[in-house]
Parts: sequence; structure tokens; C-alpha cells
Amino acid sequence: MKYFILIILFSSFSIAQTNDKDLEAFRKVEKDVENNLTEEIVKINDTFFMIKPIGGVAGNIGVFISDKGLVLVDDQWEIIEDLILETIKSISKKEVSFIINTHFHYDHVDGNKAFGKKGIPIVSHENVRKRLKRKTKLYGHPQHNYNMVQDKYPDYALPSTVYNSTMKIYIDDEEIQLSNFGPGHTDGDTIVFFKKNNVIHAGDSFVTYGYPFVDLNDGGSFKGFINILSQIIAISNGQTKIIPGHGPVCDINDVITLKNILQEHYEITEKGFIEGLSVEQIMVEIKSELNGPGNITKEDFIKNIIYDLKTN
Ligand SMILES: [Zn+2]
Repeated sequence: MKYFILIILFSSFSIAQTNDKDLEAFRKVEKDVENNLTEEIVKINDTFFMIKPIGGVAGNIGVFISDKGLVLVDDQWEIIEDLILETIKSISKKEVSFIINTHFHYDHVDGNKAFGKKGIPIVSHENVRKRLKRKTKLYGHPQHNYNMVQDKYPDYALPSTVYNSTMKIYIDDEEIQLSNFGPGHTDGDTIVFFKKNNVIHAGDSFVTYGYPFVDLNDGGSFKGFINILSQIIAISNGQTKIIPGHGPVCDINDVITLKNILQEHYEITEKGFIEGLSVEQIMVEIKSELNGPGNITKEDFIKNIIYDLKTN
């Protein structure tokens, strides 16, 4: 009998080891976040704050203070739950009423495991729930040498309310407009617009670290990414504060600049691809270039667009 139990224990242990192998890259980023990440609080106005991570890979959290409680947009990582809660407490003593997920990537929604366990409702596009329910290989750009796999999330960490194309949530005199403008960074991106506060949380549909990621493995699209930037511009005015997935608070002009540069890259690459030009020839024709701390080069970005054109 003892022998039998030992075999069972041993075999389940080896299965866990095999399954975890492809999560090594994820664990590395998680460990780095646990050891190095600190939070900066950025005040946007009296009822809206941004929690900006420093020193680790994590998305910005939007914090709306309503009379009834707090609304968070994205929730970073479970591993830094105490730090996030402490940071939220220093903004407001109110409880978190609900959370909106901008998309399904771990660096924005891993905190669902912490908040979901407490029974806090989570709202997202329907594809976020669908993708969080299974283990997923991210990005899919062939020339990226890192292999990022995101594990499936437990039921309590899944969004409890989902929508398809648009949704409005009313709280106090604020109207929160959630919009999915089709495939872009992923196939489940939400642009969250707090109309009265005039604040947009764009998730990774708008970032400031240089060339953006487009998750081609998970329904993303380069053409769609540029279209979503146009949609953000269309709902913004000169006073709108725009929270990117990563980076400082921006405005409409920052989004216009990114959109124009990406559009130039896309149009010239598409034309060159049809005419049979090489990547080098296309690169020379594109006059603009994006700089930032991100790890996607101009050449990578062009290759990614070509890959998207070939496969979709
Ligand atoms: Zn993302």
C-alpha cells in the first residue's frame, strides 16, 4: 500500500514539473516583480489616480474614487498583492467595488487571483475570460527569442461580467464606457473611458515604450492596432488624460504621434511586401523611427507586420 502511494505521489510530481517547464519565462518575470517592483502614485484629479509601477514588468492601474467605492482598471500581479493594497489604501480608505480588465495579459490581470479570491467582481471583454481559461502562448512573433507562456487562471480569477462590443457602467454621476474596437493588441482589448473625469485607460492599445507588441497568437492585428489608436483619438479632446498600458499619463497629441508613425510603417511595409521588396529596402523607405526602452526594433516591427500580412 505504501509503495502504491509513493508511486502516485512521484508521478504527479513529475507531471507538475513537465507542465511548469514552459512557464519558466513567466516565473522569471514574476520573481523580478516580487523582488524589484515599487509603485508610484500619480494624481490625475481629485477622483482619479494612476498607480505606476517602477522597476518591474506591470501595467498601470487606474483608480476611480466614487462615493460607493473604488473602481480599478487592471490589477498587476498577485505576487505583490500587499504592495498594491497598501498603495490603494494611501489613495483612499474605500473598498474596491469592482475591477475592469483592459485585456488578458498577465502583467495587467494576474492580480485577478488576489482580488477575485475576495469576491470582487471583474468586468472585461468576453475574449479575456475565454483566453484566461486556458494555458496560452503569447505574442507569436517568429523572430522574438523569448518564449512567454501564460498559465490558465483559476475560476475565481475570471471576469464575472463580460461584454461583446460596448458596455456602459453608471456609478455616481460618472459614465464608464467600455469599448472593443475589434482586433488590435489582442482580440479582447477594452478602451475604458471615464467620461466625466475625462480619463481614458487604453491598456496596451497605447504604450510609450517604443514599438508596441501585437499579440498575433491571440487574435491581434497590426492594422487593427492602428485603427484602435484612431478610435482613441476620436473619443478624446485636448483635455483628456490618457493612461497607457505602460508609461506616464499622456494626451491626444501623444496618441496622434504614435498613430502617424505606426501608420507610415504599416503602409510602406504593406506596399513593399506586395512589390516584393526586402526588409532592408522597406526600412530605408520608412523615415520615422520609434525610440524607447522596449525591446522591439524597427526591423523586428517591419518583420512582424510582414508576418501578419502573410498569415492573416
Ligand atoms: Zn498586453
